[in-house]
Amino acid sequence: MTVFNIPLDAPNIGELEKEFVIRALESGYVSSVGPMVAEFEERFASYVRVSHAVATVNGTAALHLALRLLDIGPGDEVIVPALTFIATVNPVLYVGATPVVIDVDPLTWNIDPVEVEKAITEHTRAIIPVHLYGNPADMCRIVELARKYNLFVVEDATEALGATYEGRFTGTFGHIGVFSFNGNKVITTGGGGMLVTDDSVLASRARLLVNQGRVPGVIEYEHVEMGYNYRLNNLQAALGLAQLERLPEFLDAKRRNTALYRKLLQERSGLKWQCEMEESVSNWWLFSILIEPDKFGAGRNDVMEKMKSAGIQVRPLFMPLTKQPAYNRYNMNECPVADFLHKNGINLPGTSLLKEEDIRQVCQVLLEVK
Ligand SMILES: *Cc1c(COP(=O)(O)O)cnc(C)c1O
Repeated sequence: MTVFNIPLDAPNIGELEKEFVIRALESGYVSSVGPMVAEFEERFASYVRVSHAVATVNGTAALHLALRLLDIGPGDEVIVPALTFIATVNPVLYVGATPVVIDVDPLTWNIDPVEVEKAITEHTRAIIPVHLYGNPADMCRIVELARKYNLFVVEDATEALGATYEGRFTGTFGHIGVFSFNGNKVITTGGGGMLVTDDSVLASRARLLVNQGRVPGVIEYEHVEMGYNYRLNNLQAALGLAQLERLPEFLDAKRRNTALYRKLLQERSGLKWQCEMEESVSNWWLFSILIEPDKFGAGRNDVMEKMKSAGIQVRPLFMPLTKQPAYNRYNMNECPVADFLHKNGINLPGTSLLKEEDIRQVCQVLLEVK
């Protein structure tokens, strides 16, 4: 494992986390039978202001559950953006549905509503907007399209905890919203996820499905439908409760990181970054730049090389779904915007552990690349 002086997305774990996890260990509740799971769900629901939150083993599992809950399956089409992590779309295949991959907006880097409308057919059942790197997608127009064509919206808010659109938290606009607590996300439980909804019928069924389809509260092992072992455990929930308390601190740190990056980089020609819509406030999970090689004088690979040798951890943006070998049997239209962003974009260090000197150093190395 390479150790970097300046990490990209390392978790921020402190005394509070230790205290909570020790409390869970001492209670003897280490599995998903434990009081902290329900407590974490309640606190999370009240933070994002939804009626129901169901904790899961990770964000991918929560996305899979979401599609099961909406009875999406073979013959159904689900619209997804080309520029995202593969976990947005793998669950579409888990349920046997067909992903319809569309291009993103060049400014927000998120699913383009104009492309969404063009892609809708009589088989379309759902749209999965992703709030990429924490930047809210155009939820007003996506919700409007969903109403007009009678579609479900499953929000992939895995990267966007704490981001808002028109003052409301991302993840709460769709029929179902999904969050991730992987080690690299805004808050972590090691691995973990959360499914949120305002629909009590969907929430009750989610509680069945995460636990092998078992009827809760009865002594018999009675299973009313095929489910999964997708529950979060008490140790993870303990970690989550501590992290949730510290979330405001993490959000402040990420927004501070971004403000400093922008200030230090704004003069240099050939550098751009993701834009927030007027209605949006990003959580700035990962600040990412776009390099225009002609104007900047060097390409993204040169920049990545220089960063790596300076001990700074950076990454290319996600490879578009249209370029994924695992997906080449699907008939997909070209997505030139996603391709352009992937070819020229880099995630810069964005962890809440960064100090001002770290960001100054990243910018100095970046600005010296020739
Ligand atoms: C992290 C992530 C997921 C999946 O979450 P896991 O908890 O890692 O399973 C899904 N979609 C996007 C866009 C992500 O970044």
